[in-house]
Amino acid sequence: MDAREHRLAQNEALFREVNEKIEAMAHHLGPDTPYEFLCECANVDCTFRLTLPIAVYEAVRADPKQFVVLPDHYTPEVETLVTQQENHWVVRKTGEAGEYVEHLDPRSR
Ligand SMILES: [Zn+2]
Repeated sequence: MDAREHRLAQNEALFREVNEKIEAMAHHLGPDTPYEFLCECANVDCTFRLTLPIAVYEAVRADPKQFVVLPDHYTPEVETLVTQQENHWVVRKTGEAGEYVEHLDPRSR
């Protein structure tokens, strides 16, 4: 993994940290309640949000290499596309970037 890939993976892991805190606060609302999460793309300057039912967010988090991003907020050099929905895409980190973000997953600590 080169320095750029490392940085891209680190950015996504950071957005995930924030979303985990958001999810912890929203959890009591129930799985079908839509809630605002941050876009977890590799661009550190991205401040967009996406609205997802908590159950959908949870399904993404079940895989430590998966991230939820806005449509087109996708970095093909470090990830593959898992699903494309109207309002969000799910991406999965590959190779060393995948191992790196798995290691950083707050749920595996
Ligand atoms: Zn984004």
